[in-house]
Amino acid sequence: MSQFKALLVNEEQGEFIPRVVTRHIDELPAGEVLIRVQWSSLNYKDAMSASGNRGITRNFPHTPGIDAAGVVEASSVAELAVGDEVIVTGYDLGMNTSGGFGQYIRVPAAWVLKRPAGLSLRDSMVLGTAGLTAALCIDKLERAGLVPGAGPVLVTGATGGVGSIAVAMLAQLGHEVVAVTGKADKVELLQRLGATRVLSRAELQAGTNKVLLTEQWAGAVDTVGGDILFNVVKSLRYDASVACCGLTAGGQFQASVFPFILRNVNLLGVDSVEQPLVVKASMWDRLSLQWKTDLSQLEQEITLEQLPEYIDTILASGMVGRAVVKLG
Ligand code: NDP
Repeated sequence: MSQFKALLVNEEQGEFIPRVVTRHIDELPAGEVLIRVQWSSLNYKDAMSASGNRGITRNFPHTPGIDAAGVVEASSVAELAVGDEVIVTGYDLGMNTSGGFGQYIRVPAAWVLKRPAGLSLRDSMVLGTAGLTAALCIDKLERAGLVPGAGPVLVTGATGGVGSIAVAMLAQLGHEVVAVTGKADKVELLQRLGATRVLSRAELQAGTNKVLLTEQWAGAVDTVGGDILFNVVKSLRYDASVACCGLTAGGQFQASVFPFILRNVNLLGVDSVEQPLVVKASMWDRLSLQWKTDLSQLEQEITLEQLPEYIDTILASGMVGRAVVKLG
């Protein structure tokens, strides 16, 4: 097969227009592994790419999609054979390399992981970069000393992809989870996922001149940044940590040294994109075994044709859980 279906974003008079089109395999970049993509998923970064954010994607037309799961169709390396089921997340996929919103990708072998035994290709994309990021956040918090029973763990952007998986996974691991959301109608969903308390986003956004707030959180996963992250840092308990991975509320945040020098707290950065493949592999093993979590309440299956509508939803802060894209 030399043709395939893909979402292609075109720049037309300053607008970025996504359309489902037929593409040719010889338009894909050179690479060691050609993969027939069966599943992908929608992440906030895909929407940033599809809407022309030059920090993510420099050149258009472009097929976004930072996640892909499928079957090796051709390979020039011994470790990956035709027919192997594989996943690719991050690195340059979907940024400036044609991504998972197409039925084929061609990538370096160094980006490709064999499907973890405990997950189907579809399961792996329900998790996708969001699940990997949630796992990296929890792993980093644990390595900084967080244990179940230590106290409430806050998750911001709790109905989003990373946030909702973090809520479900932390609860399953035995943590007391407090979820923060801007969606008043999703309180019950968050409780079903395992949150013991749900706070409104407005409570966390409230501006204050105080350099410290009441100590509350034994740990936190922050997917939103901005003023909310500032308030989270100020309300961590003594010696606690926040894993910072996102920017939906803003890429800048204020800070003062006081929480750090008076409460011994830690601000932990989390990146899922450029992690060495061996680190990604160990996280995926965990996601498929000890940390395997039922995400059926969080997933919706969509087609390539539905992606533009979902891209608008995620950009408007309206996404709930994970959209898994069926390509196969
Ligand atoms: P989603 O859009 O699925 O989730 C983001 C959630 O943030 C929304 O659902 C909403 O949740 C909340 N939110 C949206 N707008 C605002 C706002 N203005 N103020 C406060 N909260 C807001 O995105 P993803 O889960 O895919 O990604 C979340 C963030 O993490 C993004 O910034 C993304 O770029 C980043 N990310 C980083 C990665 C890394 O490697 N560091 C990897 C993956 C994602 P609610 O309504 O419940 O409050």
